[in-house]
Amino acid sequence: MDKGLLLVLSGPSGTGKGTVCEELCQQQNSLCNSISVTSRFPRKGEKDGVHYHFLPEAQFEKLIEEGALLEWARVYGNYYGTPLKQVEEKRAQGLDVILEIDTQGAKQIRERVKEAILIFLLPPSLKELWNRIKGRGTEKPEVMKERFLAAHGELKEISNYNYVVFNNNVSEAVDKIKAIITAEKCRVARN
Ligand code: 5GP
Repeated sequence: MDKGLLLVLSGPSGTGKGTVCEELCQQQNSLCNSISVTSRFPRKGEKDGVHYHFLPEAQFEKLIEEGALLEWARVYGNYYGTPLKQVEEKRAQGLDVILEIDTQGAKQIRERVKEAILIFLLPPSLKELWNRIKGRGTEKPEVMKERFLAAHGELKEISNYNYVVFNNNVSEAVDKIKAIITAEKCRVARN
């Protein structure tokens, strides 16, 4: 059995990565997401083991020391990371895995997993991005501003990615990523 693909989906906060990922996993049986570990507190409605594995900082640092994370980063003052074992097990079963992670984590994946496919998701415009961050209503005003300003830095990282997809509309973005997966599976090197 072929090992599953490893996909990375990054993009500024508010671009709609979560919605796109969820829709993709629903439409593609062979695709699953990875549940990250984080030291940030759960938001209203978020469940441990579903949205993230929520851990205290000390426990997260233990995972780093043990080499249990495929990648990790500090984002907006909190730790976020991808459990290595979970990803490897799923890929070994032939499942494609998608990681919804920030640009620092994507850089580590690019260095560590040569065959990884890196996709950058963009909002239709910066104005629309601000409206989406504001519309989500889950953060305080200073956090919303921090996330919006961080988007400018993240945009500079696009050249490190293999593909760029505009999220003007969820179903279009999902279709484009499905086409990327199909093309990657047709690569001569994979056959
Ligand atoms: P949020 O707090 O809004 O859930 O996520 C904040 C940022 O952390 C987002 O850009 C998200 O993609 C990123 N993130 C979530 N999980 C991981 C992870 O496992 N590793 C890295 N490097 N970033 C992550």
